[in-house]
Amino acid sequence: MLDYPTLDDIKSALFVQPHPDDNEIGAGGTMAYLVQKGIPVYSVSVTKGDGGSDEHSPEALASIRALEAQHASDILGVTYLGDLGYTNTNPGTISSICEDIVNIMRTHHIQTLISVDPDLDNECHPVHLTVGRAVNEAFVRCPQRYYPFHEHRIHDDAYHPEILGHYFTKHDNTIVGIDAVYTQKMDAIRAHSSQVNEAFLQQLNTLYQAYAIGTPYTYAERLKLLYPIHTHCFAIRDELLESLMESL
Ligand SMILES: [Zn+2]
Repeated sequence: MLDYPTLDDIKSALFVQPHPDDNEIGAGGTMAYLVQKGIPVYSVSVTKGDGGSDEHSPEALASIRALEAQHASDILGVTYLGDLGYTNTNPGTISSICEDIVNIMRTHHIQTLISVDPDLDNECHPVHLTVGRAVNEAFVRCPQRYYPFHEHRIHDDAYHPEILGHYFTKHDNTIVGIDAVYTQKMDAIRAHSSQVNEAFLQQLNTLYQAYAIGTPYTYAERLKLLYPIHTHCFAIRDELLESLMESL
């Protein structure tokens, strides 16, 4: 079948964020919902988020954001795996980040891998674009027993992950009602106090209301969830696929 996965198909999940705070902003409600269902949920930051402050040195900001990220994960009840060590001056490459993500997936046997959509047409942040691509590649590489190829050995912990997900996407196929966990989500975002102010929180509040338009919810998140069949050579317009599903 060609159906997309649903939220109920998620059995364990790793959320990969380019910077500390992206997971909470893009999918914090989904994370809290999954945790409440008893599903193992992990969060990892690719970079330390050490750029972009005139007030703090990069090293000081990295320390602040590490504490904020841990606090936010504690609020959501997810296991925070820390960061991959990349920085504003050493942001990593698609291949280096991919290798790190596959390593984490194999260690924790992650069933569902979720990160930012690298094909969001107005996304301008280079780290988001790189991380989205790296996570997509990790989903494909994880089952390959000879990957990472430069090690020239078989990896017995290679396995097939089942679901790839994107947040910060315009091609969502899954609406997550987050009313019951909304306070938790917003508290987790507020935990990133070096990054957010009230005006930004108000903008986010409006955005989560917009995501819920046409649904029974006041607030929602929207994700794109894919099975492996959808992640390679799967070329069909959404409306054609919808018609096909309705006719079956
Ligand atoms: Zn970010």
